[in-house]
Amino acid sequence: MPVRILNQSEVESLLTMDDCIHVMEEALTTLAEGDAIQPLRSILRMPNLKGAFGVMPGVIERPAAFGLKAISVYPANHGTEYDSHQGAVLLFEPVHGSLAAILDASSITAIRTAAVSGVATILLARRDAGDLAILGSGVQADTHLDAMRAVRDLRRVRTWSRNTHHATDFAKRARSRHGLAVEVMPTAQAAVTGADLICTVTGAKDPILAGEWIMPGAHINAVGSSMRDARELDTAAVVRSRLFVDRRESALHEAGDFLIPRAEGAVTDAHILGELGDLLLNRATGREGPADITLFKSLGLAIEDVAVARHVCTMAQERGVGLVLDLGGQRGTHP
Ligand code: NDP
Repeated sequence: MPVRILNQSEVESLLTMDDCIHVMEEALTTLAEGDAIQPLRSILRMPNLKGAFGVMPGVIERPAAFGLKAISVYPANHGTEYDSHQGAVLLFEPVHGSLAAILDASSITAIRTAAVSGVATILLARRDAGDLAILGSGVQADTHLDAMRAVRDLRRVRTWSRNTHHATDFAKRARSRHGLAVEVMPTAQAAVTGADLICTVTGAKDPILAGEWIMPGAHINAVGSSMRDARELDTAAVVRSRLFVDRRESALHEAGDFLIPRAEGAVTDAHILGELGDLLLNRATGREGPADITLFKSLGLAIEDVAVARHVCTMAQERGVGLVLDLGGQRGTHP
């Protein structure tokens, strides 16, 4: 069978943020309707190497597709020529079960994660939110800026990163990509004070965002540190917030931002008010008033990767993009 191979720049050229937000809305709705299958992701931490290796299989019925993402996470790559998340998404077509495509996973992960935060922001942030703080300055900082621009009119953008040079580089990229002035702040507190949109996109193990700094009415997309023993938000931030997740089962196993406050006795499982899919299906109430603090804890789901891969593959077929290779699996018709 012909297999289409799509590299990083091809995926980036085919996948706009607006389209990806729409694809994510559909995928998260399908998940909430029970028409998707995915186990918890497998993560192999490699003690003698500098990273982790994740495997994420998923099946989705609408659009019908299945596949898996295999991805390495090497945090020390940040600031070098290598992405910290690298790998491939294998996309299968559901009629004969043939492998249909192999796609770069760095770009898919970068764009789909921010697009899901875009969905959360549409659903949960105040309509007039536009004072954005981005904590962290890596790949996800770039795509989250794209996503927040796509869903809200931004009045002001501030950033903070542990390494000020990295934050300055991010601000330079934002200026050249969008003509946008991003203010580099000396502390996370200075970046979030008065902000009504906050994206945390760091590999922090311990909190970098304190509840007492968060302005009433703010919406937070908590994206980094997606492990059960790490967190970006302190307990007060979680307690003060109306909490939503991409998938409840994943949050109950993988989200240190929730599990650590729960272990402290500060919250119970009932603190998770729903999945994004529940909000999309009007089965949960998001923001109840303008002063609510809303929080989306993102973990990243295999079905997001599969749905995006299918979308990108369809676009690539239409436009004749990518390298097509016959890998076998089809022996022809026999008399
Ligand atoms: P990058 O490696 O490109 O950037 C990492 C950022 O995290 C840098 O700004 C770095 O800061 C910061 N950072 C690392 N360690 C710490 C720390 N201990 N304290 C404070 N800041 C820290 O990664 P990405 O942008 O690709 O990913 C960011 C985070 O998002 C990661 O944790 C990643 O695992 C997670 N992620 C989550 C996904 C999801 O679906 N929820 C999907 C993909 C990624 P500095 O500039 O100072 O070095």
